[in-house]
Formats: sequence, C-alpha cells, structure tokens
Amino acid sequence: MTVSAAGLGLVTHPDYLLHAPHAEFERAVRLEHVLSVFQTAGVFDRVVRVEPVVVPEAVLTAVHRPEYLGRLAAFARAGGGAWSPDTVLSPESYDVARLAAGGAVAAVDAVLDGRVGRALALVRPPGHHAGPNLGTGFCLINNVAVAARHALRTRGIERVLIVDWDVHHGNGTQDVFYDDGDVLFFSIHQAPLYPGTGWLTETGRGRGEGRTVNVPVPPGAEGRHYRRAFEEVLEPLARAFEPRLVLVSVGLDAHRLDPLAEVRLTVPDFAWLARTVRRLADQVAGGRLVGVLEGGYHLAALGASLLAVADAWGNLGLAMAEPPGEPAWPAPPADLVDEAFSRRLAELKAVLGPFWPGLRESGPEAGGSQGNGR
Ligand SMILES: [Zn+2]
Repeated sequence: MTVSAAGLGLVTHPDYLLHAPHAEFERAVRLEHVLSVFQTAGVFDRVVRVEPVVVPEAVLTAVHRPEYLGRLAAFARAGGGAWSPDTVLSPESYDVARLAAGGAVAAVDAVLDGRVGRALALVRPPGHHAGPNLGTGFCLINNVAVAARHALRTRGIERVLIVDWDVHHGNGTQDVFYDDGDVLFFSIHQAPLYPGTGWLTETGRGRGEGRTVNVPVPPGAEGRHYRRAFEEVLEPLARAFEPRLVLVSVGLDAHRLDPLAEVRLTVPDFAWLARTVRRLADQVAGGRLVGVLEGGYHLAALGASLLAVADAWGNLGLAMAEPPGEPAWPAPPADLVDEAFSRRLAELKAVLGPFWPGLRESGPEAGGSQGNGR
C-alpha cells in the first residue's frame, strides 16, 4: 500500500527495549505492548517508518550540561543501577537514551523535510523530567527538548510550541526553556502530584517571560476540563505565538486507569486532544506536528490511548475501544473538581494577561469588561 507524504511517520527501534527492561513502572513491556497493539491494528502497514538518527553532541549539550552527560554515560557503562531513587539504569541506558533523543530528532527532520505530514516517536526512556543537569522521574535525556533545540538551531525553525499533556509536570522541559523566548511551553498536569512543580505562577524569566504556561488540574479532572484549558488558553496563545513547529510530549498517564495519577481521561478524550493539536498545527504551524512518547503505566490504557493519537494524526480510521476497569481511586465530588479547576483557570488567565493581551477576551470566563457598562 502506498502511503502519501501527508501520512504519519512512525519512529521506533528495538534497542529502546534495552534500557532498564525490568524497572518497576517505566519498563520495556510498555513499549512491547504498544508495538503489539499497533501491529494488531495494522498501523505499520499504513505509516512511513522513520529510523532514529545519531544526535550530534552539540545538540545534546544545547540541552544538557556536558558534565551531566559524562556522569550519566560513565554510571551506565560501569554497570548501571539506581541512578536516582526512582530511576534505574542498565549498562545500555546512556546509548539508548541518546537513541531515544535521536528518534525525536528524526521525527522532526522527517516532518521538516516533507517526507511525512506528522510524526510520532515511540521511544523510551521518556524525557520530560530530565533537566540540564538532572535525570530523574524515569527520564535521562530530554527527548522533546533536544528535538526542539535541533529544530531551532540546526534547522533554522524560528519558534516552537511544546504541548505537554503527560499527567506529570514537564519540569525538565520547563527548566531547559525557562528563559528562552523562542519556545512556548504549555504543560497541563495534575497538581498536587510528582514532581511538585508546575504551579500556574511559574511563567518564565527574561526573554522567556510569559512563555511557560502551566495548567495544574486538580485530582479527579476529566476531559471537559482539558477541553476548556485547550480552548481558552492553549489555542489563543498558539495563534498569538505563531510557532513554526508543534511538539507534543505524549504522556498517556492522565488516563482514568493509570496507577500513578488521579486524572480521569478516556480514550476518546485522548483522541480529542490529538485532533485538537493537529488542527492547531494545521492552522498556525503549516501542519508541522511531532509527538514523542512520555509516560503511561496501565498497559491497556497506554496502548488504546496511543492508538487513538496515531489514528487522529494518520487518518487511519481505526475502531477505538475504552479498556474495561474502574480507577483505583475514589472520584472526588464533581462540583468540587469543577470549582477548583475554574478558580485555577481564572487565576492563570490573570497571571498570563500581561504577556498575552488577547487572552482575557477568549472563552466564556472572560469577565473583567471594565468600562463596558452592563
Ligand atoms: Zn507522567
């Protein structure tokens, strides 16, 4: 079957299974399960396979400090073990982490070169908790950040929007770009939750002022809250920022069955998120859209949710099914979740208002119609 250049590029590599294969949560079976689900659904026959590339040292060190990379490489190659309380390395981990970043870079290149319309990199280890000098939260090298810096510095792309919908705050990505005016970083995540950062008052510094946008959702948040955040904050900001490329940290751990969080998204919600960023990329970034796998720790939910993303980005026309089961956590009362979310969204708009003049008028919560009378 011929796949047009407007189709979906898919990056993966067998070596991604070699990093800490038997770790407690972020383990090789996650990716094995995803690949098996994609195989069964016939995805591989209908996408363009893209091979990871070797990331040049200069691009890696544009994100991470050379001393950090040196320590990480030496620790892994000496046999690995517990790198941090939650992150285990095998001897292959450093090389695999570089190859994961190379998967994200290859996905960006395939899109920028017009070989594919959009691309999805199925990699591990994930990256969004890895900062310039820090590898934690199952992350070693920040794949999305490396891909963004590659696009900006090597490919001459002027502005990059990073959307991080993993249920945990993308603290590493935020740290890398906190004072960078060329990257708009939008993270929607549960708070309180690991890693404890990502409050809505964290908005960037210097040239990056206003270009870090955090939407901390309360436990129990559902698809309707994500819709409001995307429609009332992400979309107007993306239109004003005019990115030339949209990168997505595709975490699937905001699914209602995920054991590490208490957000209640469903497979159709992930399909909606994927369709929305696709439409946004089409409208503001010439369609240039690349997703990179982050978290997701309930196997069935991970596979089904990621399939929904691939379906939305590749026009695959697949049948979607919500995995059976009930969340392990009791649902907080819906009115309390609504109230907490609305309060946070209003506060976020007030905090961002000085940087984004168009934001106040957007969405039903606009208010503040000074001088207009009633
Ligand atoms: Zn996560």
